[in-house]
Amino acid sequence: MTKKKPFDIDTLLVQAGNRDNHDQYQAISTPIYLASNFRHHDLEEVKRFDPDKQYSYSRLATPTRRILQETLAKLEGGSQAFATSSGMAAIQLVFSLFKTGDQIITSDDLYGGSFRYFDYLSDHVGLQFSKWNGKDYDQLAQLITPQTKAVWLETPSNPTMKVIDIQKVAKIAHQTNPACLVCVDNTFLTPVYQQPIRQGADIVVHSATKYLSGHNDMLAGAVIAKSATISDTLAFNFNTTGVTLDPFDSWLLLRSLKTLSIRMQRHTENATYISENLAKLPQVEKVLYPGQGGMISFYVQNQQQVEQLFKRLKIISFAESLGGVESLLTIPALQTHKDMAEADRLKLGITDKLLRLSVGLEKASDLFDDLKQALAD
Ligand SMILES: *Cc1c(COP(=O)(O)O)cnc(C)c1O
Repeated sequence: MTKKKPFDIDTLLVQAGNRDNHDQYQAISTPIYLASNFRHHDLEEVKRFDPDKQYSYSRLATPTRRILQETLAKLEGGSQAFATSSGMAAIQLVFSLFKTGDQIITSDDLYGGSFRYFDYLSDHVGLQFSKWNGKDYDQLAQLITPQTKAVWLETPSNPTMKVIDIQKVAKIAHQTNPACLVCVDNTFLTPVYQQPIRQGADIVVHSATKYLSGHNDMLAGAVIAKSATISDTLAFNFNTTGVTLDPFDSWLLLRSLKTLSIRMQRHTENATYISENLAKLPQVEKVLYPGQGGMISFYVQNQQQVEQLFKRLKIISFAESLGGVESLLTIPALQTHKDMAEADRLKLGITDKLLRLSVGLEKASDLFDDLKQALAD
């Protein structure tokens, strides 16, 4: 038997939901099944019920979400995917794997909401968190104990754009403690640029609110697990806690994925142009751009510029979130990372001169001109 050549990710994305949606009319776009429950034929069918193919109640499975999940699993190279109602719901689903006394190592520069949730887990559940600086791999090996159940990281990090070597982390973690899972929040780069499971990670998480959906119009999340054993536990917890994505949003996310690859290419082109030009402005102290994707952080020369900048912007919106077609600017110290202790924030360089730009798909020169006029003395 000849081995089937896997399709390129560009093809997988555009074809998302086509041919595998089992629709009786063979619709190219996956239909939306707005049903919370499904009629059974007879008693015999209930007795022989196959939860992988049939439907009973939508929290357990619903056709549109199933197609989305199969697509996400393929994209990230995992055994199974779970589409959740938000990125935080996805993170919560992963943490349902752990119990009191388990130790979790996290990189030190994460989405602010993740830290907020980890503080909650530490206080209410008794999980023990330790922070790793994301740079010193010997220190990582030293932090891992027999109680360590996971290393949790984001790369590039948010908002300081630190890049972590996933392969290296996975090797160290698995060698030091085979029971330690490596979990990667892949929101910033998406599977178009980074497929953590193929680099040795065990679990991938997304805030699909960002690039995967990409239009600033929905909340969603995803968890993709490498092994079937982890998937089985996650499936149980997914059904039990109900952190599920509804059929309409499942459809909307599926349709958004079709343009993910082309959007990511354009995000990168625009962000490259803007980071190069921003660095030349006298009002800008420093630009942080990891070379891929649409996220740029930059420091202005002095804090007084910030208010004027937000006020003068004509295209870029002063708004939270990221990853959409419209460009957005935020000040992490006052928005996404405001719940972090000030000392921790400053140690990471999250000062009140740091701004985070989610570069959208507008014309790059228009975006740069907008920043330039807003920063002008
Ligand atoms: C936004 C975000 C989250 C949280 O996702 P929601 O969809 O807002 O719940 C988690 N991780 C990262 C990196 C994010 O940017």
